[in-house]
Amino acid sequence: MPEREFDLIAWIRRAASRGRGVRTGIGDDCAVLDLPGGRLLATTDVIVSGVDFLPRENPVLIGRKAANVNFSDVAAMGGRPLWLLASLTLPPGLPAHWARKVTRGLLDACRAAGASLVGGDLSATSGPAAICCTALGEARKPVLRSGARPGDAIGVTGPCGGSILRRHLTFRPRVDEGLRLARVATAMIDVSDGLTADLDHILDESRVGADLDSRAIPVHADARRVARRSGRTPLDHALTDGEDFELLFTCPPRRFPRWARRIGTITRRRGLRLDARAIRPRGYEHVLG
Ligand SMILES: [Mg+2]
Repeated sequence: MPEREFDLIAWIRRAASRGRGVRTGIGDDCAVLDLPGGRLLATTDVIVSGVDFLPRENPVLIGRKAANVNFSDVAAMGGRPLWLLASLTLPPGLPAHWARKVTRGLLDACRAAGASLVGGDLSATSGPAAICCTALGEARKPVLRSGARPGDAIGVTGPCGGSILRRHLTFRPRVDEGLRLARVATAMIDVSDGLTADLDHILDESRVGADLDSRAIPVHADARRVARRSGRTPLDHALTDGEDFELLFTCPPRRFPRWARRIGTITRRRGLRLDARAIRPRGYEHVLG
């Protein structure tokens, strides 16, 4: 352990502010939380050194990412993040303040999302560092992946591709956008695996297909930069890179918000087509075993 566990916990307890619905935060056996009036949302995500971040990367940004990937999932349900639990497993040999900096990042993300850190755990490991976060949130009417209907417009909240350059660490979860979309969206997901891979999750769950228009796909400037070295097109990066953490949603065309980008249409005919040609959804998938 790079630092005495109880010192670190005492510091985290002081640094974690009290927030909405928190009766008892860090320091007892459980946090005591007031349930919101809507539905309770729960999601968890672990990020591992060497897989989801590199050990040499800024630990504040690593902590921010660990929390924000969870807040992005709450946003993808049209929900409001309320609380975060975070567990760190730390290998020996990390710089002394690494865990504190990661915690600083967790707290930054909580503050920005309007949530509070209410618990967690610390442990040592002989393997790589890992940060596991669980976020709890609320939604009056959660938006599922299964509600897309033929004729719905497909939209995305911002440009995609090339997140590896830095955005996968520095992104802002689209919480406000998700809350606005919750009023009109029939299905929603956050772009973590890749635009086409995540759209395919909606298509599967909703038992529908989709037509995408390549000229309408918002391609991030980072996708163009990465494409210069990769030999692939910027559009291909936008469609498959992942970790953009934009929201991908479907809604009736007449209710489509002016501020979002319309990229296609949901069809009764199954499968995914780009400019009328069938494509295979591709994105990032962890290799297990
Ligand atoms: Mg997700």
